Amino acid sequence: MMTTEKLLDYDRRHVWHPYTSAVDPLPVYLVKRAEGVYIELENGMRLVDGMSSWWCAVHGYNHPVLNEAVQRQLKDMSHVMFGGLTHRPAVELTERLLEMAPAGMNNVFFCDSGSVAVEVAMKMALQYWYAAGKEMKHYFLTPRRGYHGDTWNAMSVCDPVTGMHSIFRGTLPMQFFAPRPEPRYGQPCMPEHIDELRTCLRNNHNRIAAIILEPIVQGAGGMWFYSADYLKQVRELCNDYGVLLICDEIATGFGRTGKMWGVDHAGISPDIMCVGKAITGGYMSFAAVMTSKEVAAQICAKEPGVFMHGPTFMGNPLACSVANTSLELIRSYNIPKMIGRIEEQLRKELEPIRKLDNVQDVRVLGAIGVVELREPVDMALIQAAFVREKVWIRPFGKLVYVMPPFIIGEGELRRLTLAMNRVLACYK
Ligand SMILES: *Cc1c(COP(=O)(O)O)cnc(C)c1O
Repeated sequence: MMTTEKLLDYDRRHVWHPYTSAVDPLPVYLVKRAEGVYIELENGMRLVDGMSSWWCAVHGYNHPVLNEAVQRQLKDMSHVMFGGLTHRPAVELTERLLEMAPAGMNNVFFCDSGSVAVEVAMKMALQYWYAAGKEMKHYFLTPRRGYHGDTWNAMSVCDPVTGMHSIFRGTLPMQFFAPRPEPRYGQPCMPEHIDELRTCLRNNHNRIAAIILEPIVQGAGGMWFYSADYLKQVRELCNDYGVLLICDEIATGFGRTGKMWGVDHAGISPDIMCVGKAITGGYMSFAAVMTSKEVAAQICAKEPGVFMHGPTFMGNPLACSVANTSLELIRSYNIPKMIGRIEEQLRKELEPIRKLDNVQDVRVLGAIGVVELREPVDMALIQAAFVREKVWIRPFGKLVYVMPPFIIGEGELRRLTLAMNRVLACYK
C-alpha cells in the first residue's frame, strides 16, 4: 500500500482533476470515507460538507437505505443492455419520475450524465423540427451566464464569456444569446428585462429549435437567482413563436430551491426537461430527459421514426435502483419545511457577511447560500483556510457558496456559516 505522501505525489504527477493543470495542480485533500454530512480525510480530520459533492449528495454520504438498494440490486444484476430488454428498476423509476414531474411530462429517456442529458435534449429538439419538416430550426437560444455541461453542444449554450467559447471558437456550433435574466428572484420582470430575448425570437424563430435555460437558478455560470415572472414570460414567448422550451433541472431539481422543481416557482411546464445530479443521491452518474407526449410523438412521426440515441449504459439497473430509493427518500421529506429551515438559517447567518468591504452581494434561495466577492479568490489559500475551519467549501471565481446536504443539522449548518464569516472577514 502506498503511503499518504506517495499517493498524493502520484496523484499530483498523473491524475487529472476537474478544471486543473496537469503540470502545476493546486493541492488536493485525500478522503478516507464519508458519512452523513461529514467528509473524513486520511489524517482523521472530519469536514462538514457544504457542497453535496456538486449538488448530488442530498441525503448525505454512506446512507444505509441507499447502500442497501445498491447491494440488493447487485445480487440480481448490475447491468443488462437496454435495447430489446427492460427491467423492473427502470420501469419503476420512470413511473416515480413522471408522478413527481411537472404536469405534461410523459416519456423518459435515461442517460449517463447531466451533460449527456443536455445533448439528448438538444438532439430531441432538432429531431422534433426535422420530423415537422422545418429543418431550418436547428439553433438554440439561451440566456447568458448559463451552464449546461462540458460536452460539445452543451458547451455551445454555456455562457460565451465565462464558458469555454474563447478556446473553442470556430469549432462550437454558434447559438443565439440573450442577456442574463436581470430581475432577481421575487421581483417582477419588466419589458426591458426580456426585450432582447423577445426581439431575437421575433427575428429568428424560423431558425430556432428551442430555448434552453436553467429555471430560477443559474448554477455554475454565476449562482444567480432570478425572477419566476421572467421564466413565465419565456414560456409564453416560446408558445407565441413556436419554439420548444428545454428546462435543465440538473442542479435545481428534487427540492434544492425549496420546491420540487425550479419551474414550480413559475407554475410552468417545459416541453423537454433534463434531470440528473441528485437523482441517485450522489451514488453514481445518471440522468434522464423527460418530454411531453406531443414532443415524443412528433419526433417519431417521420423517418427514421425513432429517436437516434442509445448509450451503452442506458437504464443501468444499479443506478435505477439507487435512484428509486433516492426519490422515495425525497418524497418522504417535507421539502418546503426541510429546505425552508435551511434557507432561513442561511439568510440569518450569512447576512453579517454583507458589510465586509470585499463583498459584492449575499443571496440565499432554498438550500443555496451565495457570497459574491468583488475579486476572484485565491483558490489554494481560501481552500486551506476552510479546511482549517473543518468545513468543505469549494469556491470558484468570485463566488463562495454552500449547498449542503438536505439532512444537515442546525449545528452543522452553523459551522458552515461561521466558517464563511470567519474566513471571509480575514480574507483580503
Ligand atoms: C452539472 C450540470 C450539468 C452537467 O452535468 P454532468 O453530470 O456534470 O455532466 C448540466 N446542467 C446543469 C444545470 C448542471 O448543473
